Order: sequence, then C-alpha cells, then structure tokens
Amino acid sequence: MTPLPKWLLPPLTSLLAGRERLHHALLITGPEGVGKEWLARALAAALLCDAPGAARLACGGCAGCRWFSQNSHPDFRLIRPSADEVSADDADAPAKVTKASRDIRIEQIRALAGFVEIASHRGGAKVVLVTPAEAMNGAAANALLKTLEEPSPNTYFILVCSRIYRLPPTVRSRCRQVPIRVPSTNETISWVADQTGVDSDRALEWLAFCGGAPRRAVEFGMAEQAATHRDLLDIVASGDRDTLPALADRLQQHEPGNWTPVLHAWCVDLLRCKAGALPRYFPGETNRLGALAQRSDLQGLIGFESWMRQLGRLVTHPLNARLVAEDALSRYRAVFARGGHKQ
Ligand SMILES: [Zn+2]
Repeated sequence: MTPLPKWLLPPLTSLLAGRERLHHALLITGPEGVGKEWLARALAAALLCDAPGAARLACGGCAGCRWFSQNSHPDFRLIRPSADEVSADDADAPAKVTKASRDIRIEQIRALAGFVEIASHRGGAKVVLVTPAEAMNGAAANALLKTLEEPSPNTYFILVCSRIYRLPPTVRSRCRQVPIRVPSTNETISWVADQTGVDSDRALEWLAFCGGAPRRAVEFGMAEQAATHRDLLDIVASGDRDTLPALADRLQQHEPGNWTPVLHAWCVDLLRCKAGALPRYFPGETNRLGALAQRSDLQGLIGFESWMRQLGRLVTHPLNARLVAEDALSRYRAVFARGGHKQ
C-alpha cells in the first residue's frame, strides 16, 4: 500500500485513537484534491485489518489487508457512480460509457441491505465507502438515510464529499463530520515533487494553479496538462509577439476545456496585480503579470474576466474550437489596446 501523505496522518490517527467510540457514519469533507478518499480508504483498511500496528494503522500484511488492497474484502463495499467505475477500470470500453451514470442510484444503496443486516464474513468490522457522496440522487440519499438511522453493530459508513451543500441536511446531520483542510504548501511541495519527479519550483507552480490541492496538482502534472499549461502560459503571457491568426492556430491545438481555466486564472491574476496584490495562480510570473497589468484597462479586464467565467460554463458543450480561440484572443488583446498603449 502506498504510504499515506503526511498531512493526512493526523486526522487518521486521531480517528483511530477513538476507535472504540468511532461514530458509525463519518462524513469526510473538504475541497477537491486534498486526499479525502485516500484518508477514507486508509481508515477502512485500518478498520478491516486483522492485526493493526502502531497507532492502530493497517498492518499491510495480514489476510484482511491483502484482500482490501485487491478490492476483494468480503466485508467492504465501495459505492460510487457507475461512470467512475467505467473510467477507472474499463477505460477502453466506450460503449459502456454512454450507459454509465454520474449519479449514485437507489439500486446501489438498496443492494447494501443484505450486507448491512448479516454478520460480517470475517468476524470483524464491515465498512461501506460512498464516494463522492454528493453524487447520490435524492432517492438514493433517502434510502441511505434509513440505513444510517438504524445502525448495525460494528458497521461503518464513510462518506466522502467535496460539495457538502449538495448533500441533504438530513444525511449530514446523521454523520460525524471530519473536515480536511487544504494543507500548507510547505507540507505538500516536496510530496508533489516526489510524486511527479519535477523540481520544487515546478511543483509550486502546479500547486498554486490547483488552489493548493496536492492530489489535483499531481494529476495535473501526470496528465500532461502541465505541458499544455506551459504552452498556454507562453501564448497568453507574450501573446503580442505573434499575429492573432498565428496565436489562434496555437491555441486551437488545445481543447477549449483545457485552455479556458488557464486563461481565466491568468486574467484573475492580472486583476489582482492591477489592484496591487500578488498573483494567486502564477506566483512565478509576478513580473510579467505586473507589466501586463500596467498596460491593461481595468474595465476591460473586469469585462473579460466575466466573459471568461461564462465561457468556462459553456465549454462542456460542443463549440467551434477555432472561433472560440479567435474570439477569446481578440477580446484578451482588446484589454491591452484600451489601456492606452500600442502593443
Ligand atoms: Zn492488516
């Protein structure tokens, strides 16, 4: 089992220290990408381990731990949207993707009834992990609520949730909340660098772009989004070297879904610099941002930021990539043209 990142150890050991009094329904909350599901799995592993070690953590070597790591522990159930199962286990089967659901459906919760009611196979705890819990549709959440209201002995429900406002208050109130904060950059920078094999400057850049969430930063680096990110950064930061059609050619090589968040974050940082604050997403670009902010027109920037936000909501729809790229770039350039200086 991969070792748990160090910022997740304190919440895990504190939950396990009170294992005798552990609430039967735990709701792990916090922003996307901070490692909530890792924590949930490490907790489940510890609860299902036959011979927990120091601090009651899973030993990693017993039969229970082996079954858990092979996803075949008979006293563990994982409930997630079927679309996540397809993408994780069966990515080469596009035919199934169309039938997969983004919701956790009532049948999935109902199917737990037998598991919850009968005694555990191995004589220890039973664990149900629901992730992401906000994917439960209304009927599924209601069905789960009934189960949570009548807890079975030694049976634990672990719900993982990034958007707690989407979870019915009735379900929330049945759970003990375990909030996970965004760890400090000091805690995560070397971890992100180790996981991805980059230097700490690059790790810091990715962390900043991902709002400090380390798991997102690693996924960002792994998925070659980082190369896209650097190319985009080059386009937006020194865009006036090339003509608009040439830039649009470069931009349209990337999916609108990839470049819109980068251009939007860049624009937010321009606004911050214009107001005399430090950039949030591109801390390594303070000088270039500062120079561009000086040349920009404040009203134009505000308008462009709002336009980018709307575009961000539209990019999941089919769009003409070329037209969108040209439109975004010409609007972006206009922000500086109105600033009163020639480009
Ligand atoms: Zn074990």
